[in-house]
Amino acid sequence: MKILIVEDSRATLLIVSKFVERFGAQAICTENGHQAIAAFHQEQPDMVLLDVLLPDIDGFAVARQFRALEKPGAWTPIIFLSAMTSDSDLEKGIAAGGDDYLYKPVSEAVLSAKIRAMQRIIQMRTSLVVLARELDTANQELKRISASDGLTGIANRRFFDDYLSREWRRARRGSGEISLLMCDVDQFKIFNDTYGHQSGDDCLRQIAHTLRNTMERASDIAARYGGEEFAIVLPDTPLEGARIVAERVRLAVHNLKLTHSGSPYLHITISIGLATLSPADSEGGQQALIEGADRALYRAKSAGRNIVCCHEPVLES
Ligand code: GH3
Ligand code: MG
Ligand code: MG
Ligand code: MG
Repeated sequence: MKILIVEDSRATLLIVSKFVERFGAQAICTENGHQAIAAFHQEQPDMVLLDVLLPDIDGFAVARQFRALEKPGAWTPIIFLSAMTSDSDLEKGIAAGGDDYLYKPVSEAVLSAKIRAMQRIIQMRTSLVVLARELDTANQELKRISASDGLTGIANRRFFDDYLSREWRRARRGSGEISLLMCDVDQFKIFNDTYGHQSGDDCLRQIAHTLRNTMERASDIAARYGGEEFAIVLPDTPLEGARIVAERVRLAVHNLKLTHSGSPYLHITISIGLATLSPADSEGGQQALIEGADRALYRAKSAGRNIVCCHEPVLES
């Protein structure tokens, strides 16, 4: 342990540094405020013994400088040493950022006891900092788990709902468009019946990862909407852009070449319903976007599956 001693009286400095060394700590000796601040910065001591009356800067101001030099979240105990005995000095010392106050002349027993007590506080504080860090990590993990789907690991329905409303509100403030793709695995019941539920789960995992990996913008989010349905939110994306993404997604799943004897394509495919809306011009909320994409998905299924259909509000009204 390093203890910085700031004391302009040579005699006192000698005695205090001897006490510190006998305690088993390393003493860094300085004789004025400027030296002390430089040493604090350079040596990063574990504790400071600080005289109040110094030839250049007064001890209270030095203490304030120390506090300003500390890294965020760090704490170095500061014990004032002073011959003055008024209560207001003690009060001033604590207000300036000091942690304790010792009257000179200091006895070795009292100084050792104070150092030991401060060490104990440092240890407790360190454990608290470690604990807080662990708690923070655990919280982040919890947040991640609560937002991801247990089977596939991609975003879950809860995350999707939050994300879509957030993006919807954001787009309404501006004048952007949001696109939504509703993707549904084709003839998946037959797949499960033919290959078993485990293979079905494995297939969903592969599709989920493919959807996620096909997203190019950080703001494009693929989520498991439920069962064998996936939803993809494309913020700030007009219809034409979304159609390109949808086609890329459809093809990527087809290219996985997951055998499906019950499909006319002989492989796993998905159908996609696409809707694009400008929230600023829309009457309904985000539900209108979901309904539009759902209707388009229904048309994709009726049209033979493994295709992308776009919601066309004008034609359907
Ligand atoms: P369509 O082409 O019209 O979408 O036909 P489909 O068979 O995919 O649609 P349907 O809604 O009739 O069946 C969906 C099936 O998806 C039902 C269920 O067996 C399967 N499924 C849903 N969730 C899961 C899951 O988490 N794991 C597995 N293995 N299968 C699932
Ligand atoms: Mg002095
Ligand atoms: Mg379905
Ligand atoms: Mg299906």
